Amino acid sequence: MVGHADITKLLKEYGIRVAEEHVAKSEAEAASAAKKLGYPVVLKIVSKDILHKSDSGCVKVDLKNEQELKAAYKQITKNAGKARVDGMLVQKMAKKGLELIVGGKQDPQFGPLVLFGLGGIFVEVLKDVSIRVCPIEKHEALEMLDGIKGAPLLKGARGTAPVDKEMLAGLLVNTSKMLYENQWIAELDLNPVIAYADGYLAVDVRAIQVKSGKNA
Ligand code: ADP
Ligand code: MG
Repeated sequence: MVGHADITKLLKEYGIRVAEEHVAKSEAEAASAAKKLGYPVVLKIVSKDILHKSDSGCVKVDLKNEQELKAAYKQITKNAGKARVDGMLVQKMAKKGLELIVGGKQDPQFGPLVLFGLGGIFVEVLKDVSIRVCPIEKHEALEMLDGIKGAPLLKGARGTAPVDKEMLAGLLVNTSKMLYENQWIAELDLNPVIAYADGYLAVDVRAIQVKSGKNA
Protein backbone atom coordinates (compact mmCIF):
# COMPACT_ATOMS: atom_id res chain seq x y z
CA MET A 1 0.00 0.00 0.00
CA VAL A 2 1.29 3.49 -0.86
CA GLY A 3 0.89 6.15 1.83
CA HIS A 4 -2.33 8.10 1.48
CA ALA A 5 -0.59 11.49 1.45
CA ASP A 6 1.91 10.37 -1.22
CA ILE A 7 -0.63 9.08 -3.70
CA THR A 8 -2.93 12.07 -3.15
CA LYS A 9 -0.06 14.48 -3.81
CA LEU A 10 0.90 12.64 -7.00
CA LEU A 11 -2.70 12.66 -8.26
CA LYS A 12 -2.89 16.41 -7.69
CA GLU A 13 0.38 16.90 -9.59
CA TYR A 14 -1.30 15.22 -12.56
CA GLY A 15 -4.24 17.58 -12.30
CA ILE A 16 -6.63 15.01 -10.84
CA ARG A 17 -9.30 16.43 -8.57
CA VAL A 18 -9.41 14.83 -5.13
CA ALA A 19 -11.71 15.67 -2.24
CA GLU A 20 -10.67 18.42 0.11
CA GLU A 21 -9.45 16.63 3.23
CA HIS A 22 -7.28 16.52 6.31
CA VAL A 23 -5.70 13.56 8.08
CA ALA A 24 -6.32 13.89 11.82
CA LYS A 25 -4.51 12.06 14.60
CA SER A 26 -6.98 12.80 17.38
CA GLU A 27 -10.64 13.57 17.96
CA ALA A 28 -9.84 17.21 18.71
CA GLU A 29 -7.78 17.53 15.54
CA ALA A 30 -10.61 15.96 13.51
CA ALA A 31 -13.05 18.45 15.01
CA SER A 32 -10.89 21.43 14.14
CA ALA A 33 -10.33 20.09 10.59
CA ALA A 34 -14.08 19.63 10.14
CA LYS A 35 -14.68 23.19 11.29
CA LYS A 36 -12.20 24.48 8.72
CA LEU A 37 -13.61 22.33 5.90
CA GLY A 38 -17.19 23.16 6.87
CA TYR A 39 -19.94 20.67 7.75
CA PRO A 40 -21.27 18.26 6.56
CA VAL A 41 -18.15 16.08 6.50
CA VAL A 42 -17.20 12.43 6.07
CA LEU A 43 -14.93 10.62 8.52
CA LYS A 44 -13.03 7.51 7.45
CA ILE A 45 -10.12 5.48 8.65
CA VAL A 46 -6.66 5.50 7.11
CA SER A 47 -5.28 2.01 7.75
CA LYS A 48 -3.05 -0.32 5.78
CA ASP A 49 -4.97 -3.22 7.31
CA ILE A 50 -8.44 -2.22 6.09
CA LEU A 51 -9.18 -2.49 2.39
CA HIS A 52 -12.94 -2.05 2.39
CA LYS A 53 -13.55 0.70 4.89
CA SER A 54 -17.34 0.85 4.70
CA ASP A 55 -17.69 -2.95 5.03
CA SER A 56 -15.79 -2.67 8.31
CA GLY A 57 -17.92 0.21 9.62
CA CYS A 58 -15.02 2.61 9.16
CA VAL A 59 -16.68 5.26 6.96
CA LYS A 60 -19.30 7.64 8.36
CA VAL A 61 -20.86 10.04 5.88
CA ASP A 62 -22.90 13.23 6.17
CA LEU A 63 -21.80 14.22 9.67
CA LYS A 64 -23.57 17.50 10.33
CA ASN A 65 -21.94 18.86 13.47
CA GLU A 66 -19.17 18.34 16.01
CA GLN A 67 -21.31 16.06 18.16
CA GLU A 68 -21.94 13.69 15.24
CA LEU A 69 -18.29 13.85 14.24
CA LYS A 70 -17.03 12.91 17.70
CA ALA A 71 -19.51 10.04 17.99
CA ALA A 72 -18.39 8.79 14.55
CA TYR A 73 -14.73 9.05 15.61
CA LYS A 74 -15.36 6.83 18.64
CA GLN A 75 -17.44 4.37 16.63
CA ILE A 76 -14.85 4.00 13.87
CA THR A 77 -12.05 3.55 16.42
CA LYS A 78 -14.11 0.78 18.01
CA ASN A 79 -14.99 -0.85 14.68
CA ALA A 80 -11.33 -0.82 13.62
CA GLY A 81 -10.57 -3.33 16.37
CA LYS A 82 -6.94 -4.41 16.23
CA ALA A 83 -6.20 -2.85 12.83
CA ARG A 84 -3.32 -0.38 12.68
CA VAL A 85 -4.71 3.14 12.45
CA ASP A 86 -2.58 5.65 10.54
CA GLY A 87 -5.08 8.44 11.01
CA MET A 88 -8.64 9.56 10.46
CA LEU A 89 -9.47 11.25 7.22
CA VAL A 90 -11.86 14.17 7.45
CA GLN A 91 -13.32 15.01 4.05
CA LYS A 92 -15.85 17.49 2.92
CA MET A 93 -19.10 15.69 2.09
CA ALA A 94 -19.33 15.70 -1.71
CA LYS A 95 -22.69 16.42 -3.30
CA LYS A 96 -24.60 13.57 -4.92
CA GLY A 97 -23.58 12.55 -8.41
CA LEU A 98 -22.87 9.47 -10.49
CA GLU A 99 -20.34 7.13 -8.81
CA LEU A 100 -17.67 5.86 -11.17
CA ILE A 101 -14.43 3.93 -10.88
CA VAL A 102 -11.17 4.90 -12.50
CA GLY A 103 -8.28 2.58 -11.92
CA GLY A 104 -5.21 0.97 -13.27
CA LYS A 105 -2.70 -1.81 -12.86
CA GLN A 106 0.55 -3.18 -14.21
CA ASP A 107 0.02 -6.00 -16.64
CA PRO A 108 3.00 -8.38 -17.09
CA GLN A 109 2.43 -8.37 -20.86
CA PHE A 110 1.11 -4.92 -21.70
CA GLY A 111 2.55 -2.75 -18.93
CA PRO A 112 0.33 -0.15 -17.29
CA LEU A 113 -3.40 -0.37 -18.04
CA VAL A 114 -6.10 2.20 -17.27
CA LEU A 115 -9.64 1.16 -16.39
CA PHE A 116 -13.01 2.91 -16.35
CA GLY A 117 -16.42 1.78 -15.17
CA LEU A 118 -19.50 2.61 -13.17
CA GLY A 119 -19.00 2.32 -9.42
CA GLY A 120 -20.51 -0.11 -6.92
CA ILE A 121 -22.06 -3.38 -8.04
CA PHE A 122 -21.58 -2.49 -11.71
CA VAL A 123 -17.86 -3.00 -11.40
CA GLU A 124 -17.87 -5.72 -8.73
CA VAL A 125 -20.69 -7.92 -10.04
CA LEU A 126 -21.19 -7.04 -13.69
CA LYS A 127 -17.52 -6.31 -14.45
CA ASP A 128 -18.73 -3.63 -16.86
CA VAL A 129 -15.45 -1.84 -17.53
CA SER A 130 -13.34 -0.61 -20.40
CA ILE A 131 -9.57 -1.01 -20.36
CA ARG A 132 -6.74 0.47 -22.45
CA VAL A 133 -2.95 0.30 -22.47
CA CYS A 134 -1.34 3.51 -21.10
CA PRO A 135 -0.82 6.21 -22.16
CA ILE A 136 -4.05 7.12 -23.94
CA GLU A 137 -5.12 10.16 -25.90
CA LYS A 138 -8.36 12.05 -25.54
CA HIS A 139 -10.23 10.28 -28.35
CA GLU A 140 -9.39 6.93 -26.74
CA ALA A 141 -10.59 8.21 -23.38
CA LEU A 142 -13.91 9.23 -24.96
CA GLU A 143 -14.14 5.74 -26.50
CA MET A 144 -13.60 4.25 -23.05
CA LEU A 145 -16.50 6.30 -21.66
CA ASP A 146 -18.80 5.13 -24.45
CA GLY A 147 -17.43 1.58 -24.33
CA ILE A 148 -19.18 0.31 -21.20
CA LYS A 149 -22.69 -1.22 -21.28
CA GLY A 150 -23.79 1.32 -18.69
CA ALA A 151 -22.77 4.25 -20.94
CA PRO A 152 -26.38 5.53 -21.28
CA LEU A 153 -26.25 6.37 -17.55
CA LEU A 154 -23.56 8.95 -18.32
CA LYS A 155 -26.14 10.81 -20.38
CA GLY A 156 -28.33 11.22 -17.32
CA ALA A 157 -31.21 9.09 -16.09
CA ARG A 158 -34.36 9.76 -14.06
CA GLY A 159 -34.00 13.48 -14.27
CA THR A 160 -30.29 13.64 -13.43
CA ALA A 161 -28.10 15.80 -15.60
CA PRO A 162 -25.59 14.26 -18.04
CA VAL A 163 -22.06 14.07 -16.66
CA ASP A 164 -19.18 16.15 -17.96
CA LYS A 165 -17.56 13.81 -20.51
CA GLU A 166 -14.82 16.28 -21.42
CA MET A 167 -13.64 16.46 -17.81
CA LEU A 168 -13.89 12.68 -17.39
CA ALA A 169 -11.89 12.11 -20.57
CA GLY A 170 -9.25 14.47 -19.15
CA LEU A 171 -9.24 12.47 -15.93
CA LEU A 172 -8.61 9.23 -17.86
CA VAL A 173 -5.84 10.79 -19.95
CA ASN A 174 -4.14 12.19 -16.83
CA THR A 175 -4.50 8.92 -14.93
CA SER A 176 -3.00 6.98 -17.85
CA LYS A 177 -0.09 9.43 -18.01
CA MET A 178 0.52 9.11 -14.29
CA LEU A 179 0.51 5.29 -14.47
CA TYR A 180 2.80 5.32 -17.52
CA GLU A 181 5.31 7.66 -15.88
CA ASN A 182 5.15 5.99 -12.46
CA GLN A 183 5.41 2.30 -13.11
CA TRP A 184 6.21 1.61 -9.46
CA ILE A 185 2.43 1.84 -9.00
CA ALA A 186 1.21 -1.76 -9.24
CA GLU A 187 -2.47 -0.92 -8.71
CA LEU A 188 -4.53 2.24 -8.47
CA ASP A 189 -8.16 2.64 -7.50
CA LEU A 190 -10.15 5.85 -7.49
CA ASN A 191 -13.45 4.43 -6.28
CA PRO A 192 -15.63 6.30 -6.31
CA VAL A 193 -15.02 9.22 -8.58
CA ILE A 194 -18.23 11.20 -8.24
CA ALA A 195 -19.20 12.73 -11.59
CA TYR A 196 -21.28 15.89 -12.05
CA ALA A 197 -22.64 17.99 -14.88
CA ASP A 198 -19.66 20.29 -14.40
CA GLY A 199 -16.76 18.13 -13.24
CA TYR A 200 -15.89 15.29 -10.90
CA LEU A 201 -14.26 14.56 -7.56
CA ALA A 202 -12.29 11.47 -6.46
CA VAL A 203 -13.29 10.75 -2.85
CA ASP A 204 -11.53 7.41 -2.26
CA VAL A 205 -7.98 6.82 -3.38
CA ARG A 206 -5.93 3.64 -2.96
CA ALA A 207 -2.66 2.51 -4.48
CA ILE A 208 -0.36 -0.49 -4.15
CA GLN A 209 3.33 -0.36 -4.90
CA VAL A 210 5.20 -2.91 -7.03
CA LYS A 211 7.04 -5.34 -4.76
CA SER A 212 10.77 -4.62 -4.59
CA GLY A 213 11.97 -8.21 -4.78
CA LYS A 214 11.28 -8.96 -1.14
CA ASN A 215 7.78 -8.79 0.25
CA ALA A 216 6.85 -5.20 0.99
P1 ADP B 1 -14.47 2.09 0.92
O1 ADP B 1 -14.49 1.97 -0.57
O2 ADP B 1 -13.13 1.69 1.47
O3 ADP B 1 -15.59 1.39 1.59
P2 ADP B 1 -15.04 4.95 0.49
O4 ADP B 1 -14.14 6.05 0.90
O5 ADP B 1 -15.15 4.66 -0.96
O6 ADP B 1 -14.60 3.64 1.32
O7 ADP B 1 -16.49 5.28 1.07
C1 ADP B 1 -17.60 4.45 0.84
C2 ADP B 1 -18.73 5.22 0.18
O8 ADP B 1 -19.06 6.37 0.98
C3 ADP B 1 -18.37 5.79 -1.20
O9 ADP B 1 -18.60 4.85 -2.21
C4 ADP B 1 -19.31 6.99 -1.27
O10 ADP B 1 -20.61 6.58 -1.66
C5 ADP B 1 -19.37 7.48 0.16
N1 ADP B 1 -18.38 8.56 0.37
C6 ADP B 1 -17.10 8.42 0.78
N2 ADP B 1 -16.49 9.61 0.89
C7 ADP B 1 -17.39 10.55 0.52
C8 ADP B 1 -17.36 11.98 0.41
N3 ADP B 1 -16.27 12.69 0.69
N4 ADP B 1 -18.51 12.60 0.01
C9 ADP B 1 -19.62 11.90 -0.26
N5 ADP B 1 -19.71 10.56 -0.19
C10 ADP B 1 -18.62 9.87 0.19
MG1 MG C 1 -14.21 3.19 -2.09
